[in-house]
Amino acid sequence: MEPQQRSPLLDVKGNIELKRALAKAPSRLPLPGSRLKRGPDQMEEDLEPEKKRTRGLGTKVATSHPRAMALTTVPQTQGQTAVLKIPRKTGPRCSTAIATVLKNQKPGPAVPAQKPGTTAPPPVVGRKKPSKRPAWDLKGQLCDLNAELKCCRERTQMLDQENQQLRNQLREAQQQATALGAERRTLEEELARMRAQAEKGQRELGNLSAQVLELEERLGTQEGLVQELQKEQLELQEERRGLAALLEEQERRLQASEAALSGSQAEVASLRQEAAAQAALLAKREERLHGLEMERRRLHNQLQELKGNVRVFCRVRPVLPGESTPPPGFLLFPSGPSGPSDPPTRLSLSRSDERRGTLSGAPAAPTRHDFSFDRVFPPGCGQEEVFEEISMLVQSALDGYPVCIFAYGQTGSGKTFTMEGGPGGDPQVEGLIPRALRHLFSVAQELSGQGWTYSFVASYVEIYNETVRDLLATGTRKGHGGECEIRRAGPGSEELTVTNARYVPVSCEREVEALLHLARQNRAVARTAQNERSSRSHSVFQLQISGEHAGRGLQCAAPLSLVDLAGSERLDPGLALGPGERERLRETQAINSSLSTLGLVIMALSNKESHVPYRNSKLTYLLQNSLGGSAKMLMFVNISPLEENVSESLNSLRFASKVNQCVIGTAQANRK
Ligand code: ADP
Ligand code: MG
Repeated sequence: MEPQQRSPLLDVKGNIELKRALAKAPSRLPLPGSRLKRGPDQMEEDLEPEKKRTRGLGTKVATSHPRAMALTTVPQTQGQTAVLKIPRKTGPRCSTAIATVLKNQKPGPAVPAQKPGTTAPPPVVGRKKPSKRPAWDLKGQLCDLNAELKCCRERTQMLDQENQQLRNQLREAQQQATALGAERRTLEEELARMRAQAEKGQRELGNLSAQVLELEERLGTQEGLVQELQKEQLELQEERRGLAALLEEQERRLQASEAALSGSQAEVASLRQEAAAQAALLAKREERLHGLEMERRRLHNQLQELKGNVRVFCRVRPVLPGESTPPPGFLLFPSGPSGPSDPPTRLSLSRSDERRGTLSGAPAAPTRHDFSFDRVFPPGCGQEEVFEEISMLVQSALDGYPVCIFAYGQTGSGKTFTMEGGPGGDPQVEGLIPRALRHLFSVAQELSGQGWTYSFVASYVEIYNETVRDLLATGTRKGHGGECEIRRAGPGSEELTVTNARYVPVSCEREVEALLHLARQNRAVARTAQNERSSRSHSVFQLQISGEHAGRGLQCAAPLSLVDLAGSERLDPGLALGPGERERLRETQAINSSLSTLGLVIMALSNKESHVPYRNSKLTYLLQNSLGGSAKMLMFVNISPLEENVSESLNSLRFASKVNQCVIGTAQANRK
């Protein structure tokens, strides 16, 4: 039977529910333990000896009888156990008798089976064991047999009942077994599920353990980090304390500063008011200054005009070492009307004419030639003194009037010295060009304070044999500059420009020095090719000055031209004309022609002639914008102090005198 087998549920350790179920299982069985411990087969076996005994009745009928009697004395109320014991007590005699009777008789109506608990047939208690009937007492024997049969029948009935009960119990037990089997399967499933769950749990536990390890590791790291952070925190706290102290200090300072600031702000406010008042005053003064500047320009121009738009200065160079000193009285510089304190304006040149002898044969008295110019510079005058006189003209150029300064004279009279300066770069002997430019830059700087912005563009060309060459050429063109042409800057433009020539913006002395150095180099290269060509050509340095007053929308522009003219000496007609001299003659003719054209142009301008022959020479054509009505012209006539040059000196002085007589219109500033 099921309860006797070892349940698999017992394998589940610790499963309390299952244990409980298991504990309950036997209690469901309604049968007493003694019966349940025996299977149906065993019960059959129990029954079997009875059967066997019953079968064996035929042989021992007589001996069994007393036992059958004993059976009848068993009270019915003793229960089933007592009933079951009955067959054992009946003995073989009763069984044999029954079998014998049954063999000889028809089966009678069946004795109804007595139900358990129902009233049993009246017990034969007290009935005496029948004595052995004589053989003839068949009726008595039959009666005995009937009684025995009845007894057997009752017993059979009881056994059937018991069998029926056992079957019922078996059925119930089987049902219970089925139910328990189902329950077992359920529990097994549940167990499998639990196992799976347990495995899953195990796996999860494994995973969790790994995670725990990992987390522990991380925890270790984090703890290390936390320690570090704590350390850092401590440091930071320390630092914070320091900073807090600093902050406190700073705040104290800030408060002090704020107090000072509020004081300063009040001061600033008052200063701002003051500044506003000053600005208003300044604006007023600027306005006034501008008015004064314009007035200055007007008066300056008036002064220049009074001095003459065409001025001639005569400069006599000193006698150079190795040159013969002229006789005393050869050159005289008479004082002006106010005495020796007046700057000299007159010059006397004595010339002894050998052809004019006296009748007595004594040499004739030298002829005095007196000249008067705007200013005369005797040999002792330095470059600075000379420049002072012309600095006013440079100012005019800045004010927007074209200015043109010439150096005229024979070769060796000091033209280049006057214009560019002496050799060696000595600042003392610096010429007009560097000085004029330095002056321009500094005045332009001063005027920038009044809102004027100036720009300067320089060019430097030479005109030799009526060809124009760039003295600022660089690179491959250096010294061999291709021919340049003088052209109008654009159709209908008054402005002239020299093609292929460099126009270099300049803003400081150093740049000008570099340009003059380059020009000297270019001339030196040319000199090797053609002997002393520099003396035989005109050098024209031009500076285009542009000024702008953006605030007032004023503009002015004017060229400043500084011209070192070619030697004015004539060719000695008595000289034999070799191939070199022929070339020289051609050069001289070109020079003389251009110089006389210059004279004619000045005359034409002075006489206000309708036609001014600018185009007759490259020089006048190039300078036409610097010579017109609004222009100011200054001519230096350079004179050699030597007696041997007296003839050329006279020629120069005569030419200069003619120019000096010219008055060219009233200059107008080139204002736009
Ligand atoms: P030009 O250009 O008219 O041919 P230069 O300027 O070359 O003449 O002068 C000829 C020489 O005379 C040069 O050696 C120059 O240094 C010198 N010279 C000219 N003028 C003066 C002067 N005022 N003071 C000193 N030396 C001068
Ligand atoms: Mg010269």
